[in-house]
Amino acid sequence: MIKRDYYEVLGVSSNASDEEIKKAYRKSALKYHPDRNPGDKECEEKFKEASEAYEVLRDSEKRGLYDRFGHDGLKNSGFSGFSGFEDIFMSFGDIFEDFFGLGGFGGRRRNRSSAQRGDDLKYDIHISLHEAAFGIEKKIELKKGIQCPTCSGNGSEPGTSPETCSMCNGAGKVKQQQGFFSIVTACPRCHGNGSYISKPCKKCSGSGKILQKKSLKVKIPAGVETGMKLRLVQEGESGERGGPPGDLYVFIHVNEDPLFKRHNNDIVCQIPISFSQAALGDEIEVPTLNGREKLKIPKGIQSGELLSIKGAGIPYINGSGRGNEIIQVIVKTPEKISKRQEELFRELALLEEEQNEKGKGFFKNIFNQ
Ligand SMILES: [Zn+2]
Ligand SMILES: [Zn+2]
Repeated sequence: MIKRDYYEVLGVSSNASDEEIKKAYRKSALKYHPDRNPGDKECEEKFKEASEAYEVLRDSEKRGLYDRFGHDGLKNSGFSGFSGFEDIFMSFGDIFEDFFGLGGFGGRRRNRSSAQRGDDLKYDIHISLHEAAFGIEKKIELKKGIQCPTCSGNGSEPGTSPETCSMCNGAGKVKQQQGFFSIVTACPRCHGNGSYISKPCKKCSGSGKILQKKSLKVKIPAGVETGMKLRLVQEGESGERGGPPGDLYVFIHVNEDPLFKRHNNDIVCQIPISFSQAALGDEIEVPTLNGREKLKIPKGIQSGELLSIKGAGIPYINGSGRGNEIIQVIVKTPEKISKRQEELFRELALLEEEQNEKGKGFFKNIFNQ
């Protein structure tokens, strides 16, 4: 299923304020809430879609990730949306209370009590074939969530601390009676944490993280190709409750080169030559990744034939030598010729005709088969 743009889903602009986003979600939630539209599949879908959009856009960290990398960025960071209504009500209990005045759930956002590793981040980098061949150090800039300095990442306004959840008495679980069965579920007030933040930190709205621009130097080794990724350990989002940071994955994209096509570690380039160069042989200069190099064209070469320069290709990423440069020779037929050239071609044509009559010319093999 193709996911719609979250801003489009909520009908807000991409620079909408938190307040505008909340308002827009409130409108959708009121309209599509399953309690108001029992059994209406389309409304259910719209409610889920709007809830997922709001889950992302209300969170500065997730919103930043989405703005930068789109749906894929969120997926790569481990975000998977909601699995169902329970999931939505569990996360949004407090918001619905706000919206509908339903009473009941008072806890703020998800507040895991145990240490948790930060999310991995993804960054796409585009480099030239030359840079891929010889390696390069690139400076990249990204926004990532780091521990909020005001609350040291615990999400509570300084001087306050998370309160023990009064609904589950800190157990994080509640028992529910369903017909004959009683089932134990995560406490909807504290989302299973046993505690919740009653006075969220103003700087980070209780998330414990703020977005910060960071520039990094990335060393790209010689020999990389499109599709490879570099892992920068612990350069991802910072962890929660003392957990370690996630990693940063830099995805390599090598731009098309106007001259060279890459085949594994070989590079291929086409070089035009003239009739006379093909017939008589020559020494020409050809482009290589290291600049121009001399190449001998053997006498009698055919159009399309391949020549190679050993070791002038792309280095193997494990450091064991380089591929080759393959040169495909293309014999060019002149489109415009001078008077003198025409005279010489006619003379040549006469000679070829004589040879053909003697049965040893150019077309001999075709006609005598
Ligand atoms: Zn904070
Ligand atoms: Zn609880």
